Amino acid sequence: MSKMLRVNELSYRYGTKQVLHRVSFAVEQGEFFGILGPNGSGKTTLLKLLSKELPLQEGAIALNDMPLVSFSPKQLARVVAVLPQSVEAAFGYTVKETVELGRYAHQRGLLPKWTEEDERAVQEALAKTGLLAKQQQPIDQLSGGERQRVYLARALAQEPKVLLLDEPTNHMDIAQQVRLLNELKQWTNEKRLTVVAIFHDLHLASLYCDRLLLLHEGHVAANGTPSELIEETTMEHVFHVAVRRQAHPVLPAPLLTFLPHVKHMSEGLASLTMTTTSEQLVVTTKTPFKVLSSAVVGAGVQWARYFVNRHVPKQYTSSDPEAEMKQYLRERSFDVQQTIGMMTAVHVEDASIVYEKDLEVSLCAIVTAGVGNAVDVTKAWQQNVSSSVGTINTMIFIDGMLTDAAFVQAVMTATEAKTKALSDEGVLDPVTNTFATGTSTDCIAIAASQTGREYAYAGSATALGKAIGRAVYEATINALRNYEKRKGERR
Ligand code: ADP
Repeated sequence: MSKMLRVNELSYRYGTKQVLHRVSFAVEQGEFFGILGPNGSGKTTLLKLLSKELPLQEGAIALNDMPLVSFSPKQLARVVAVLPQSVEAAFGYTVKETVELGRYAHQRGLLPKWTEEDERAVQEALAKTGLLAKQQQPIDQLSGGERQRVYLARALAQEPKVLLLDEPTNHMDIAQQVRLLNELKQWTNEKRLTVVAIFHDLHLASLYCDRLLLLHEGHVAANGTPSELIEETTMEHVFHVAVRRQAHPVLPAPLLTFLPHVKHMSEGLASLTMTTTSEQLVVTTKTPFKVLSSAVVGAGVQWARYFVNRHVPKQYTSSDPEAEMKQYLRERSFDVQQTIGMMTAVHVEDASIVYEKDLEVSLCAIVTAGVGNAVDVTKAWQQNVSSSVGTINTMIFIDGMLTDAAFVQAVMTATEAKTKALSDEGVLDPVTNTFATGTSTDCIAIAASQTGREYAYAGSATALGKAIGRAVYEATINALRNYEKRKGERR
């Protein structure tokens, strides 16, 4: 298959110093191709070889299946545009004049004429880079980021098939970086522009690049999609820093987090305090706990210090419960970013708290239970299950360091214990008259101090799982009895 760019066994040395070792890769038309690697790994040298700024020493480079060496400078400029890392500000030129220089390769004859085509290309490039309003300004009066956009506009005015970028976002703030990369990405899709760019930022590279080349001391350490390549061990080997890989929240792309030499100090369960009023039950920890929850506020994985179980009337409705709950929390001076917020129609004074403490595990389970909406989930398909605020809310605080697997297993174990408690208390689904497994709006939060003892798992075969099973079962039973008692008193 024909490739836009093909690099074969490319080696390069400055004097006796070899900086590229038999580098091979290929880039297809319309690809966004990223080059990554630590300082001194040979990225810039590689890019300079691709733009013929450095002469070929060993190996081969082909552009559109033609050897790069066979291109005259002008022929090359019609296909390849370069945005170098730093460009000296040319004094006396305006923005527009600088961008016009990009048309050089397209002009013909000894006395080239400025054509409508040239003007259109320049205006389009100015528009795309957001420089229309600044075209008459002298470029030496622009900021570093603006100047970089001018040179990008010049490269675009060249209407290249391949754009080579050396850290294109170097002088830009994060918003400008994202805007530029969004644009470039769009051009690769719409105009089939091929982009080869050096990146310093692994996140940006993994978000925008179709493929990445990872250089390590002049060798290709890896070549593949971000997902294949951004692997913890590879990155640690190449960059010599500890990293952790996670999923991007909305894209199937990996995110890498560097692990700093900063220790998370936690005071753990000992620092936990709880206050209850008729309006809310609030658990506060002195240092943040890592939380996996399904709460209205703070769902997913969060670090939190405040855990609020708020009592709302049975008739509570809101078109946007999350926004309403955040408002509620703000009015009560909670730091919303550090708060897990749940709701219940149950009286929160009826919460049941169970501590489990032995040699292996220290945890605390807090449950509020109302079973007005009790439902047998295996038969829920037969009924029109409402999602009003009935609810069993379960919070579990654990001293220790949980893996992702342990967090998810903790949810499973706690749910199994809750369901068993409902069945042992004889709670029925009023529609099907079978044992209820939960209510339609149950909520759970697993909070761990993430210091001290490590727990890889939390299934029923583990000490942690056993403690969760026992504590949640007992707390749920007690909470159900408190609920029944209050119902009985009302009658
Ligand atoms: P990167 O872009 O990944 O930081 P470079 O391609 O700039 O890497 O540099 C690769 C190696 O080549 C480095 O060790 C650098 O010091 C060396 N180098 C770069 N340019 C020259 C030069 N003009 N003369 C001698 N050595 C150079």
